[in-house]
Amino acid sequence: MLLQITTTYQPATDLGYLLHKHPDKIQEVSLSHGIAHIFYPEATPEKTSICLLLDINPIALVKGVRNLAGKGFSLGHYVNDRPYVASSFMSVAIAKSFATALNGKCSGKPELVDVALPFEVKITVVSAPKGGALLVRKLFEPLGYEVTLEQHILDEKFSEWGESNYFTVSLKNNIKTKDLLVHLYVLLPVLDNDKHYFIGQSEIDKLMKKGKGWLEHHPEKEQITRRYLLNLKSLSRNALERLLDEEEGVVEESAEVKIKKETLHSKRLKLVCEKLKESGASRVLDLGCGEGKLLKMLLKEKQFTEIVGMDISYSELTKAKDKLYWDDMAPRQKARIKLFQGALTYRDKRLDGYDAAALVEVIEHLDENRLAALERVVFEFSKPSTVVVTTPNKEYNVVFENMSEEAMRHDDHRFEWTRAEFQDWAEGLSEKYNYKVKFFSIGEEDEKYGAPSQMGVFTYGD
Ligand code: SAH
Repeated sequence: MLLQITTTYQPATDLGYLLHKHPDKIQEVSLSHGIAHIFYPEATPEKTSICLLLDINPIALVKGVRNLAGKGFSLGHYVNDRPYVASSFMSVAIAKSFATALNGKCSGKPELVDVALPFEVKITVVSAPKGGALLVRKLFEPLGYEVTLEQHILDEKFSEWGESNYFTVSLKNNIKTKDLLVHLYVLLPVLDNDKHYFIGQSEIDKLMKKGKGWLEHHPEKEQITRRYLLNLKSLSRNALERLLDEEEGVVEESAEVKIKKETLHSKRLKLVCEKLKESGASRVLDLGCGEGKLLKMLLKEKQFTEIVGMDISYSELTKAKDKLYWDDMAPRQKARIKLFQGALTYRDKRLDGYDAAALVEVIEHLDENRLAALERVVFEFSKPSTVVVTTPNKEYNVVFENMSEEAMRHDDHRFEWTRAEFQDWAEGLSEKYNYKVKFFSIGEEDEKYGAPSQMGVFTYGD
């Protein structure tokens, strides 16, 4: 399906800056379910259009789903309208292709971020099975869009079959770039009520965040929320969930920032691994192990005879298994490692009896009022001799290019702490649960703001 965004703001070629896509280049953004081709059919100072052509691979959609056998392997998995209509996949493509603009940033022309510009959008095609044309209007018109719809007939050769549920939608508005993208991001999957990805708490949070400033005033607020959050227990659910997870939090960054972040994370993991080794531990827990980068490092160290990775997210654990080549792992290695799903806010007997635990960039993913539960689970019940905790140092955010003071480093972060806040928390809980804590910084230190990341190493007793 095709999304075309046109502006007549002068010079219209500024659209290239706004969307961080150069008008002279044809670009491809790869998605786990296909490719987004981005190009400008027209780029003149008077009028510039950008197209996002989403080329969905129906095979890739099905591939992600495990255990198809036994659940009805019908052709419907392959033959459906998914490749042709703008749905949650279009949202994912928008998020990945225009991440910077979606976050309200524009490094080339920051002065344009807050300016409402004349935009025209054409989406070919949208499926609106329930509510049809009226629904499209009800969703977009309250936000100031002028809506034109072209309904397609089912088959030109059989006009007696009548109209289909598919529309070419044209929208016109004077609006800020970010708002335009956010509206499309949220409302396209709302229109498409057919197959939808599984909605978890983080999706709800995401909708709340993206809907801030407009959704709460929208007359169709309830309908939008309900449909967006719809959980159709379809077979594609897991696949779509996983696809979405993959794309989630993708932030368009310069290669330089990416490299910096990459090295920061590997520095962090190395340091955590070092601290775990120094502790003399042999049985270790990686709590909130994510895709298993630390697990991979720990496996290389003979000192660790039993390694556990736990995460709340099934899809992260699946990724960890892939990263570790789980299915092809030598039996001796496999005997050293266990992976399981679990929540750190509930007491879990499986966490008993370990020498050390790592919580790498995990605490900030919990709501602050759930931290006390995590503290009890880890420091009171599991009670390993050593606990290593890392979390971003919020003060450092201003040093990152393009990061405003109030922004967080990841979409899913519930809070980020200054060094003093982290130390207060760590010292408080050490006193409560009879631990001693030492602090270390991770990454290159800035004189004023400290290092990008911080670490506390807790040891039990004296
Ligand atoms: N430690 C990994 C991943 C950090 S991202 C690394 O450094 O690469 C945070 C991870 O914590 C995510 O994988 C998320 O699924 C997990 N997580 C968030 N809340 C959790 C909870 N309550 N219980 C267990 N894991 C949780």
